[in-house]
Order: sequence, then C-alpha cells, then structure tokens
Amino acid sequence: GRGYADDHNATAASDTLLINEQSRLLETQGRRIIKFGFGQSPFPVFAPAVETLAEHAADKAYLPVQGMAELRESVAAFHRHMDGTDWRAERVLIAPGSKLLLFALMKALPRAEVLIPAPAWVSYVPQAKLAGQPAVRLETSFDSRWLVTPAQLDRHCREHGPGLRLLILNAPGNPTGLSYAPEMQRELAAVAKRHGVLVLSDEIYGPLDHRGEHRPFARDYPEGTLTTSGLSKWCGAGGWRLGVMNVPEALGDELLTRLLGIASETWSSVTSPVQAAAITAYSVTLALEMYLDAQRQWLSMIGQWCAQRLEATGIRTHAPDGGFYLFPDFGAYREALRARGITTSAELTAALLEEAGIALLPGSAFGCEPTQLTARLAYVDFDGAALLVRPCPDDPEAAMAAP
Ligand code: PLP
Repeated sequence: GRGYADDHNATAASDTLLINEQSRLLETQGRRIIKFGFGQSPFPVFAPAVETLAEHAADKAYLPVQGMAELRESVAAFHRHMDGTDWRAERVLIAPGSKLLLFALMKALPRAEVLIPAPAWVSYVPQAKLAGQPAVRLETSFDSRWLVTPAQLDRHCREHGPGLRLLILNAPGNPTGLSYAPEMQRELAAVAKRHGVLVLSDEIYGPLDHRGEHRPFARDYPEGTLTTSGLSKWCGAGGWRLGVMNVPEALGDELLTRLLGIASETWSSVTSPVQAAAITAYSVTLALEMYLDAQRQWLSMIGQWCAQRLEATGIRTHAPDGGFYLFPDFGAYREALRARGITTSAELTAALLEEAGIALLPGSAFGCEPTQLTARLAYVDFDGAALLVRPCPDDPEAAMAAP
C-alpha cells in the first residue's frame, strides 16, 4: 500500500462532474442518453414505509441522539434475521445516512491508518483526509475480482509494523458489484484478527445480494467489525437520509461514547418522521421479503444480461454478485482506442457518451490508475438498457474503431 496523492479527490470529483454535465448538455440538444452513470436506486421506496412517513408528518420532537429505541430494536432484529449476525439494539447508532457514520468513525479513532482498496467508493479517501487520518491505498486487480486478498493484507501489516489500522471493505461493492466468496472472507477475517486490524464493513448493498445470500463480514470477525447499512439502497430511500451502524460489544463503551459525542455535537438525530418510517421498513414481514426478492431478481436479470453483452463484444467484466454495478475493463481495445487518441478511462467515458450516448463513470473516479481502461456501469436505467437490445456487431473491434 501507498498513500493517496493530494489531488485524488479533486480529480475524481471533476471526472464525475464532467460526465454529468455533458449528459445534461447532450440531452438539451435532443440526444437520448442511456444513463448508466448515476448510482441511484431505480425502485420505489417500500410502500408501507411511505404510508408511515405520511402518518408521522406532524412529529416534531427531537429524538435521542443514538436513535429511537424501537427503531434500534427493529434494525437489530432485521440484521439478526437477514444476516445471522448478533446485532444488539444498545450497540446500534442511527444517523442521517451511513456516510456520516463512516466519517464519524474515522474521526472517533485516535490516529489510525485507514486502508482503502482501489477501486472503491468515491468518498472514503476524502473522508479519511477530512478526519485527519492517513489513507493508504490497497491496489486490487481484475484478476483478484477487485478484492483485497488475505496475503495482501498480511503483507501490508508485516511490512508496516504495529499500529492502529482501519480496513474499509464494501461488499457487494461499489463500483464493482462483487463480494467475497465465503472461504476467502474467512481467511481475510483471520488475517485482520491476527494483526488486530479493525474492519469497517460498508454493507449498504447487502440486502441486494442477487441470490439473497449476503455474508456479513461480522459473521467471520464479530469482535472487530463495525458494520454500516441504511435505507438508501435496498429501501430505495437515499434522500430520506437514514443510516445505521453496529458497534461490536467487544470494542467496549469508549468508542461508542465517542461516536455518540460526535453525533450529539453535529447532527443531533435523524428527523422524527423518517425514524418512524424506518421502523416500518426494518420490520421483517412477508411484504418486505417480497419487495427485496423482486428487486434481487430484477437486478440479477439486468446485471447478468449487461455482463453477457459486454463479454460478447470482447469487453471483460465479472458477472455481478449484488447491488447494481458492473466494472468492465476495456483493455482488449487498448490499441484500437490509442489509435484514436484515447488513453485514459476519462477519455474513454467521454467518447462513449459523445459517440454512443452511454454515460458511464471512469475507473479513475474510483481510484484506479487513469490509464487503466475501466469504467463503472450502473444498470439502473432500465428504459435505457432496453434500447441496447439489438444484435451484436459481427466485428466488435471494427465497430469500436469506427468514427
Ligand atoms: N457507501 C457506498 C458504497 C455507497 O454507494 C453509498 C451511496 O452512494 C453510501 C455509502 C452512502 O450511503 P448513505 O446514503 O447511507 O449515506
């Protein structure tokens, strides 16, 4: 691992902004853009939760900093039921989005090295920097399924000696859509435990594992794993701003107290109507199971289809495990693209938008080397995906090279 350059977040933010701005510009010119750039849930919010929200519109009381007790009970029961983990209501913290919980944790730790895989979700590195923690990059590859390997973590800890470390994991992953196989996860957990590495497991896409078989990291490392999730993805309610975190009992009261201190001095609590609605969302019912199951089937179908179409045109990608992203590698076209002056993932996504009307985000936005020709495809624009139903070109290389 090595440190992140200071311009990392500036570059990532500008790449993403550029694609979004260009998409809007092309649309005002009447172009139909297939929007695989934004990573927002395409599904409606769970209807019973919307009803509860409406019923509680007049709630006005400030709520406890840690979150309503009844909500924390529901959240703990939900995770015990869905994941087979031992969440406890007293150790659950509710916040306006899991994003704030990630930041609060980084802020709450005394100087800790934050190990961040590359590629990874865009906010981890800027958050570590804002929190004043050194961010260390753990480079992954297509061949490792974009996962940190047990040997890699072991090597890093041996080479850099003792000290407090926080490893950030995210499965199913953004931008990759991939998860650890159980055996590899057990090995990684064993290495983390051996070196006393704390793990922040961002499992916001967990309930959207396509086969409903999400394996929480806490199952393999309960004493050292802080897990985050929330309503943004599986409940389709990103704008409601509700995230949850489980702080293992084994980590003692000091860390939880510090987190509550940060919560108290910053966000105070999540809005009262949203907490009431979240109690409904987190109550395990047949309706909820059907809502989740329908999303998984739909996402699996479209994700698998997109992956197959990419493979058919020579663009390698992994079939998705969960969530709504693919992370294809256009390396097979490197020479053809170079002949057209395209050498970076940002140039590639700009050309795909301009010429094919398909918006993707460049791999560089997620911390990949700029010349690695990767991109994130968020298969959440279902109407757009339908427009891609057409025969494969006979000669994909020629189609790609065509002006
Ligand atoms: N973590 C990952 C990997 C995400 O993709 C997102 C959403 O964009 C978040 C965290 C933030 O979630 P929240 O809306 O709970 O703050």
